[in-house]
Amino acid sequence: MIEYCPFCDNILREDASFCGKCGKDVAKISSKLKQVRKVPLWKLVSPALWFWIILLGLNGLFSLIINLTQADNPVWDNLNIFLSAVITVIYALNNSKSVKPLLTTFGYKGIKRLEIAAGFLFVFVFMFLYLRFLRFIGFGTINMTESYMEYQYPFWVFAILLSVVPGIFEEIAFRGIIYDQFTLIGKENEAIIIQAVMFSILHMLPMSFISHFVLGLVFGLLRKRSKSLYPGMIVHSAWNFVVILFEYFKIDVF
Ligand SMILES: [Zn+2]
Repeated sequence: MIEYCPFCDNILREDASFCGKCGKDVAKISSKLKQVRKVPLWKLVSPALWFWIILLGLNGLFSLIINLTQADNPVWDNLNIFLSAVITVIYALNNSKSVKPLLTTFGYKGIKRLEIAAGFLFVFVFMFLYLRFLRFIGFGTINMTESYMEYQYPFWVFAILLSVVPGIFEEIAFRGIIYDQFTLIGKENEAIIIQAVMFSILHMLPMSFISHFVLGLVFGLLRKRSKSLYPGMIVHSAWNFVVILFEYFKIDVF
């Protein structure tokens, strides 16, 4: 079976990791796509786009249900969190070639670990200013934990559901699968920007487009510099945890 480079149509050696002509990484591209000449670029990233559309669809569906039924029970949020995690695991297993190295290394050693603290500090200061600004121009703040407290969930349960779980699975989804597929068709910095845009749209809150875009950039940079998902997971979960902690103890900082 002859395989072609999807970028330049050069005929590839058997089991080639890189194209001998244009030098692009072809290891992560399915052999089915390599059997077609002149593959359109969107076909190379269509699995990532479908994955994102499914996550977006779930978020849309559940916000619609919550709005239509005026539900104050967090059961729909829980179902959304659960289904998104399951779909992310399925896609991660299908893209294990790119996700596995990001989960088997912890890229920061010694003094470089300070980057995680710096990342968190940046997120904290930036979000503080951003949320204060939203308040200043008259937007209300978003409350993540209200329904959980109303239904008397123990603190640790919703702390895990709202900080650790999104910290793990959103990092695998956006800084793992989606980030990686976009590096197939562009430069790494372009992939960082694209996944940050997709990450900000996912949350479907107009007032958090900018903040989630910036958060996506920070997590993307951590992934680029460490070649690991763990630094982003730590900063992401830690930030969510701080928000939950402040809401729970009614500390009015943001
Ligand atoms: Zn090539």
